[in-house]
Amino acid sequence: MKKHLFSLVTLLVSIAGSVSAQSSGYPELDAMVQTWKDAQQTTLGYPASQESDLALFYQWYLASGMDVVNLNNAGDPMTDAPSTLSTQKFERQVIEFFAPLYGFKLDDVWGLVTHSGTDGNNHGIYFGVNYLRNQTGMEPVLYVSNEAHYSNMRLAHLQNVEMYLVASDSMGRMIPDSLEEVLVTSRPALIVYAMGSTFKGAIDDQKALNAVLASHPEIPAVYRHVDAALFGGYLPFSPYRALVDRDTMRYESISVSGHKFFGLDSPSGLFICTKEIYDNQVDYNVPYLNSNMRMINCSRDALQPLKFWWLTKSIGHTGWTYQAAKLLAQRDYLKQQLDSIGWPNWVNDYSNTVFFRRPSQRVISKYTLAQGYDDRFGGELAHVVVMQHVTKEKIDMFIADLIEQDVQR
Ligand SMILES: *Cc1c(COP(=O)(O)O)cnc(C)c1O
Repeated sequence: MKKHLFSLVTLLVSIAGSVSAQSSGYPELDAMVQTWKDAQQTTLGYPASQESDLALFYQWYLASGMDVVNLNNAGDPMTDAPSTLSTQKFERQVIEFFAPLYGFKLDDVWGLVTHSGTDGNNHGIYFGVNYLRNQTGMEPVLYVSNEAHYSNMRLAHLQNVEMYLVASDSMGRMIPDSLEEVLVTSRPALIVYAMGSTFKGAIDDQKALNAVLASHPEIPAVYRHVDAALFGGYLPFSPYRALVDRDTMRYESISVSGHKFFGLDSPSGLFICTKEIYDNQVDYNVPYLNSNMRMINCSRDALQPLKFWWLTKSIGHTGWTYQAAKLLAQRDYLKQQLDSIGWPNWVNDYSNTVFFRRPSQRVISKYTLAQGYDDRFGGELAHVVVMQHVTKEKIDMFIADLIEQDVQR
């Protein structure tokens, strides 16, 4: 009873807080709130959605008294015996919501809600290495494009996997002929496809690259992991869903971030693979957990899967389809506006990342733009990642700042 009373009070305080700015009692923290809120208004350079829709979740969380329950998802979310002080049951529903969207069959899938896109890639590479070793008794070679997200290179290093960086074309896509050149056909191949590449938003051409691999039947075994941290969010809800469909593309596993398109308010993600891959991992039978531990982490966040589940219910297929269309329309608008003021800019097919001639430092700072460099595009570059919050109004303000800085030059 006391607990519930406390929760009610907390809820009322939090509702009051949303009306008049509430003090935390820590001036240093209170001072940051305005800084954060201001920065949120103009951030355009990074792929986190700033339109998180979890207010009702947090209200429920406090009102239900769950704030004093320490849950932990250690263990396998896909078993039929989820542990009680966990949200594994809901985590499994999240995986089963998304699996068909990426072309996985519900009776042939395994997955988990990860701590981030990097955590998902860690599982992709780890599962790939174990699967290939298990199939062939040999050490695989990892191939990834030199424009892919650095986490893949870091993780190859961490896992001590021999890696070849494959050259990419000027737009950032892995070049099939370059893959052909570096292939070690006597060893199993673990390939990571970038969807998209970090700076230019390139999508590796899975069909063309798969064809290169298929033209070498002497390769002992192949594993394809798709790093779709950003694009894996909106593509399944767009007309281009075939790009992340494993029925069409034939990959073994995929990793997607939760805090990018899906709008979770802190890092999380999805890792999904087939049953065959799961069944060919290394066993660690841990009697005090609910099952065979194949995932890398022991303790795992219980709240992120629950927030994810909440969003599958509150936003769901309809909401994310609407957001995907909006985001691609906003990308078109940004490109049009840049074209109309003659500002050199480029965008890959299906990408929400527009890169362009780098503006002044003032504009870079104001909009927290990410920077890049490529002689083939005139040298200094920057990009905008068009997420849900990059509205027409924000784009107009950004374009006005570009015009103003041009006048000052
Ligand atoms: C963002 C991103 C990552 C890293 O994901 P985190 O969730 O930040 O760990 C990896 N690969 C790609 C393609 C990305 O866009």
